[in-house]
Amino acid sequence: MSEITHPTIKDGWFREISDMWPGQAMTLKVNQVVHHEKSKYQDVLIFESTDYGMVLVLDNVIQCTERDEFSYQEMITHLAMNSHPNPKKVLVIGGGDGGVLREVVKHECVEEAVLCDIDEAVIRLSKKYLPGMAVGYQHPNVTTHVGDGFKFLDDKKGEFDVIITDSSDPEGPAEALFQKPYFELLKGALREGGVITTQGSENQWLHLPLITKLKQDCKQVFPNVEYAYTTIPTYPSGQIGFMVCCLDANRNLKKPVRQWSEAEEDKLCKYYNKEIHEAAFVLPNFAKKALK
Ligand code: SAM
Repeated sequence: MSEITHPTIKDGWFREISDMWPGQAMTLKVNQVVHHEKSKYQDVLIFESTDYGMVLVLDNVIQCTERDEFSYQEMITHLAMNSHPNPKKVLVIGGGDGGVLREVVKHECVEEAVLCDIDEAVIRLSKKYLPGMAVGYQHPNVTTHVGDGFKFLDDKKGEFDVIITDSSDPEGPAEALFQKPYFELLKGALREGGVITTQGSENQWLHLPLITKLKQDCKQVFPNVEYAYTTIPTYPSGQIGFMVCCLDANRNLKKPVRQWSEAEEDKLCKYYNKEIHEAAFVLPNFAKKALK
C-alpha cells in the first residue's frame, strides 16, 4: 500500500490545529492513512488511529472517531427524539457519516427518516470505512439527498416532527447552518409541536460568546430554547454542545417525554439514558450566567 501523506500528519501523529481553538490541538497517533481526497466542498481524510479506531477528518477538523462517536450521535439524536411525544417523520441535515440516522431509526415510531448532506464523498466514504455509523443508511425507512441543507429546507413547510442538524463547524460549507435565517427555515419545516437539535457551536470552554449569540438567535425564532452538552474526548476541550428548540412553549425539554425502560436503554444506547438527558442541561456557573 502506498504511503499517503497529509499536512496535518507529522512523525506519525495527526494534529488538529485551528484558529477555532487557538493555542491547543488534539493529537492522535496514526496507524495508517486509508483515504485522502479533495471533494467538491472539503478536504476529506480518513485514517486509522492506534487507539480511537477509524477517524474522519474534514478540512483538518475531526468529525468522528469509532471509539467515542456514540456520545455525540446518541445525545444530539435522543435529546430531540425523546422530547417529542410521537416523532414519525425526521430530517437530518449533515450527518453524512450515518451515525445520527442509526440513532433515529432506533425509535420504532419513525415512519420516515430523511438525510440531506452536501457532500456525496462523506456518504460514499463512510459506507466504505465507517460501517458502524453508516449502518444507518441500510434501514428501509431512510432516504438520502445530496445537497445543501439550507436550500433543501427552502420549500419544506410543516413536514417534520424532528429535525437534527449534525453539521461540521461554522467555518466552511456549514456556515449558514449557524445563522438566524436557517433557524427560520427549520421552524417553517416543522409540524406542530416539533423539535430541533443542532450542533451548538462547539463548547463552553472555548466558544461562550458564540453559544450565547446562537441561543439569542434561536430565542428570536423558537418560543422554547435550551442548551445541553455532552462529553467526548476527541472534540476540542472534550465537550460539545447542542441547542434544543421546540415549537411548544410549555414543553419541558429537560425531561424526556418518552422513555425507554432500563433494559431497552441498556440494549440501545452506550451513552444516553434518562438521567443523562436531564443532567445534560445542567451548566457550570460561568456558562449558566452567560446563557441566561
Ligand atoms: N459530528 C460532527 C462534528 O460536530 O464535527 C459532524 C459530522 S458530519 C460528518 C458533518 C457533515 O455536515 C459533513 O458530512 C458535511 O458534508 C455536512 N455539511 C456541511 N455543510 C452542510 C450543508 N450546508 N448542508 C448539508 N450538509 C452539510
